[in-house]
Amino acid sequence: MAKPQIVKFKFPESLEEMPLGPSAAAGILTEPNAGWRVQRPVIDHPKCTKCLLCWVLCPEGVIGKENEQLTIDMNYCKGCGLCAHECPKDAITMVQEGEADDQ
Ligand code: SF4
Ligand code: SF4
Repeated sequence: MAKPQIVKFKFPESLEEMPLGPSAAAGILTEPNAGWRVQRPVIDHPKCTKCLLCWVLCPEGVIGKENEQLTIDMNYCKGCGLCAHECPKDAITMVQEGEADDQ
């Protein structure tokens, strides 16, 4: 599974035209995070059911999948916490930068 493609926003005229994943109107990062992120998401992989809700909702499109596990591209994650807030299994926890090594 690739990361969702970031598409230029065009006002949808039908349900089929609703964008899936992030669009350019969402304030995407165009350069790697410069160190201002305060918190970052950590995935508890055994809890994750791979429902992909976080993949759909992440405004940066940085959630992907590698070897059947979700991944987060920390170079472009802005630490908004939306994925952790919306995960139905509480499989994502936001931690202070520098507090946990895994991810
Ligand atoms: S929303 Fe939660 S359970 Fe669903 S894929 Fe993301 S981390 Fe896994
Ligand atoms: S914290 Fe925000 S930007 Fe980072 S992976 Fe979660 S939803 Fe995406």
